[in-house]
Amino acid sequence: MSSELHKILKKEELTKDDLVSLISAGNEENEIIFNHAGRVRELHLGKKVHLRGLIEFSNICSKNCFYCGIRCANKNVPRYEATEKEIVGAAKHAQDNGFGSVALQSGERSDKKFIKKIDRVLQRIKQQSGGKMGITLSAGEQTEDVYRMWFESGAHRYLLRIEMSDPGLYKKFHPGDNLHDFNKRTECLSMLRKTGYQTGSGMLIGLPFQTPEHLARDLLFLKENDIDMAGMGPYIEHPETPLYKYREVLLSKKERFYLGIKMVAALRILMKDINIAATTAMQTLHPEGQQKALIAGANIVMPNITPAKYRENYFLYEGKSGVHFNLEEVKSVTEERIRSAGFEPGYNEWGDSLRFEKRKNRQRC
Ligand code: SAM
Ligand code: SF4
Repeated sequence: MSSELHKILKKEELTKDDLVSLISAGNEENEIIFNHAGRVRELHLGKKVHLRGLIEFSNICSKNCFYCGIRCANKNVPRYEATEKEIVGAAKHAQDNGFGSVALQSGERSDKKFIKKIDRVLQRIKQQSGGKMGITLSAGEQTEDVYRMWFESGAHRYLLRIEMSDPGLYKKFHPGDNLHDFNKRTECLSMLRKTGYQTGSGMLIGLPFQTPEHLARDLLFLKENDIDMAGMGPYIEHPETPLYKYREVLLSKKERFYLGIKMVAALRILMKDINIAATTAMQTLHPEGQQKALIAGANIVMPNITPAKYRENYFLYEGKSGVHFNLEEVKSVTEERIRSAGFEPGYNEWGDSLRFEKRKNRQRC
């Protein structure tokens, strides 16, 4: 191991330059970084992997992010919205299979019909599980009142990726209008925290024009905002998006994959007690993507339990993994991936972020 890497891995606090060094490390140093992050994870969080049954309940979106296949300007994706009964039924399936939490994700909408529907769904899931089902929501930017209403109805974790923490890059990859405003997104993260949610964020990795410096600052953004959980993954191109024209300047898929795993490892070293997801995009780029992310420090897996007829239309990027498994296979495949990586699935529990729990306990004292 180079002496510089050795010094960095021994430090208590990492600087931006340290993070740039980790992110830019060569192949021969990657294994050392991954193993170190794996040890940090085991020391602080043990061997448990927490499960969230992922329900991608609608691909209707009012926004137009330049990278996303379900952006509203893409007229070539059939749009769907699962019914209340279907969403609550999928949550029951999660409960019956020992998944102690679900994650409800969709395109972003701010109309009353959508907001009220989510509210009813949250209440019904809580009611049918006798309050036992943990619920993460990921439905984009909303007002503080809406976040509070959903929190009171049963959601207790919310994932809102910053996507990229550099306002200049943010402008490059989003339309320059009020709907896509970097400051509004950061304000939403503050509102979520204030409302009482375990707050999650994250970023896209391997975007065109993104440098190791950008990625290091993304990690520091998560730390400075004291986030409780992270969902981040490699950017994967989609032919029906404006960003597709840059496909020739991207890193190869393999390079983007390992960059994603390195970001997981660096974040684990930086924030030892947060929840970090082994995301679907990682699995899409490598047949053992989730196992490798777990070994490098991730501790959350989100098996896709969206009703089968909708799954392939949540088409964010090409080749998305896991759309063809039936619901029975989802559980066995997930369990097999977790155990083969040397970990243990955490059934029938919420698996809250340790960082969040520590903060709550401090506030109580
Ligand atoms: N609409 C909500 C939002 O944007 O916060 C939640 C759903 S959105 C589909 C979930 C995540 O998908 C986004 O935060 C984004 O990072 C990711 N995503 C979108 N397009 C992607 C792409 N081409 N490659 C990888 N991830 C992508
Ligand atoms: Fe809509 Fe989210 Fe995709 Fe942006 S990333 S277009 S908000 S679904």
